[in-house]
Amino acid sequence: MLQLHQVHKTYSTPQGPLRVLNDISLHLEAGQSLALMGESGSGKSTLLHLAAGLDQPDQGKVILAGENIATFAESRRAKLRREQIGLVFQQFYLVPSLTLIDNLRLQARLAQQEDAEWTAHLIERLGLSGLEKRYPEQLSGGQQQRLAIGRALAPRPALLLADEPTGNLDEATANTVLTLLLSLVRETQCALLVVTHSPQVAAPLDRCLRLRHGQLASVTSW
Ligand code: ADP
Ligand code: MG
Repeated sequence: MLQLHQVHKTYSTPQGPLRVLNDISLHLEAGQSLALMGESGSGKSTLLHLAAGLDQPDQGKVILAGENIATFAESRRAKLRREQIGLVFQQFYLVPSLTLIDNLRLQARLAQQEDAEWTAHLIERLGLSGLEKRYPEQLSGGQQQRLAIGRALAPRPALLLADEPTGNLDEATANTVLTLLLSLVRETQCALLVVTHSPQVAAPLDRCLRLRHGQLASVTSW
């Protein structure tokens, strides 16, 4: 589903080039989940952005559904993102002027994947029934993140990428949200990559990798 092959990424900064990813390779199959851990500043979000086609590597391949998106122009990457990838961020990024249900519908429509039955199913599974007409600001943090997960899954993406999805939630809410996320991922059989610094978030996933000094290593124990 997703493959990174010998990926390098360097940012230019006022202090000179900053090498963040140095020869990164990984693979993630459909239905599999992978946690990406590492200290703050280790390059986790950079890797996720490359996987999402939000940024391009200096070198190497980012292969999504058999195609190397690293060579795609931005418009083609944007189309692929809308149709194949669900994104969940720590800061939810819901559309404030749209109701809960319209946030879901918009995402599905952008991917030309409108499906009222699936949307209704997502709302129910996420425990958001009865809140369809509320605006994001009228929802709690946990409800907003559940909505963000529903929005990401509304187009039935093949790959779900989540960057610190529970980072803004208290522990109990984070657990509920994570459990829902994992059970919906199992139901849809999409591939899941979660960036997190939390061992509790990483533990239930199939595999865990740690990013350190620009390189990846397997995590086998906490
Ligand atoms: P993490 O998500 O693990 O905290 P990031 O991928 O956000 O790490 O950042 C890795 C490093 O790259 C950090 O030192 C960060 O300051 C730097 N960085 C991130 N984005 C940019 C950018 N657009 N320009 C320059 N430096 C950046
Ligand atoms: Mg980050």
